[in-house]
Amino acid sequence: MIITGRTQIEALSSFDAGDFPATSFYLDTDKGRLAKKEIAVSLKGLLQAGKNRLEASDLARDKKESLAGDLEAIAAFGAQSLGDHNFAGLAIFSCSSKGFLETLDLPHGPRNRIVFDQNFYVRPLLAILEKYRRICVLLLGRREARIYDVHMGGISPLECLTSDVPGRVKHAGFEGSASRRIERNLEAHVLEHFKKASQLAFGLFRTGRFDWLFLGCEDDSNPHAESVLHPYLKERLKGHIKAKTSDAPAKVLKEALELEERLNAEEEAEVVAGLIAELERGGKACSGIKETLQRLNQFEVQSLVVTHNFSREGHVCPNDHFLYLDETVCPVCLKKTVAVTDIIDEAIEKTARRACAVRQVSQPSKLDHYGKIGAFLKYKV
Ligand SMILES: [Zn+2]
Repeated sequence: MIITGRTQIEALSSFDAGDFPATSFYLDTDKGRLAKKEIAVSLKGLLQAGKNRLEASDLARDKKESLAGDLEAIAAFGAQSLGDHNFAGLAIFSCSSKGFLETLDLPHGPRNRIVFDQNFYVRPLLAILEKYRRICVLLLGRREARIYDVHMGGISPLECLTSDVPGRVKHAGFEGSASRRIERNLEAHVLEHFKKASQLAFGLFRTGRFDWLFLGCEDDSNPHAESVLHPYLKERLKGHIKAKTSDAPAKVLKEALELEERLNAEEEAEVVAGLIAELERGGKACSGIKETLQRLNQFEVQSLVVTHNFSREGHVCPNDHFLYLDETVCPVCLKKTVAVTDIIDEAIEKTARRACAVRQVSQPSKLDHYGKIGAFLKYKV
């Protein structure tokens, strides 16, 4: 199943396994970046790590058996379907004692991980939803208007409007003034048509149907297209595309995705540039995994900026939950720390749990020169 929206995630997070634990599994299957063999090796490694954790745990036997069943279901899916899997990511949610198994195809590669918990671990899905904003494409022609929904690489038509607008006046001739009057009248018709279309888009906006608006207007010189938009829509207007109302949805989608990618890249570059500027002037920022973890432990992080899928092993104190790279003993409480496979993941979770922003940036970026991770801080260091 392809991930489509928030209701799907809510259904997963409200799944009730009773007393039984459930398994959440995420695998980066982006064949644009990874060889098939690498993906298979990651799958095997995750399953083995899951087995090891199960053996070491002191759960009751029936619960362990349920989790072991989950691992078998994941292994079976991997063996059967991974070869033909053509999405950048895969998520599997299983609770074998309840007969529950759901697989989701993801448009973006997640961090590899396997989580045993009372509930399904859905934060990576939310992060993906956040990355893919819901886009409304409003295409305006002189008579026609079309509205599309573009979300996570897909397009679906929402509205179509045809208005009764007379054709253009081509020859002014000697009856110049009469013709100009007709033209004014005609522009009024077009304006009315644009207003109707804009009203339709505003209706969709009010029901929470989109975050960004892309506008396409056949006649570039037409100054009315933007002026008829409700102020709320103007705020959401992120750019213009060249697509026409008569274009096939696939063409509209291609243009919209190109613009979306460009906007995302610009936003990311802006965040990274802001962080670097702050670092270089010795302001409220830090970089590198060691210092970032330290600032996080001291509650100084305002927002975290991290390279997508950057991963490092590390240690967590089970007592005060402080995060470390190499410390086997917590320097604060002197308890033994626990090794974790991905300390970056722990840092992201900790930041998110404190309701602080996490910005993930795609590679390559200038953040690579600063240890792939950094943070805006609440105070000057
Ligand atoms: Zn400690």
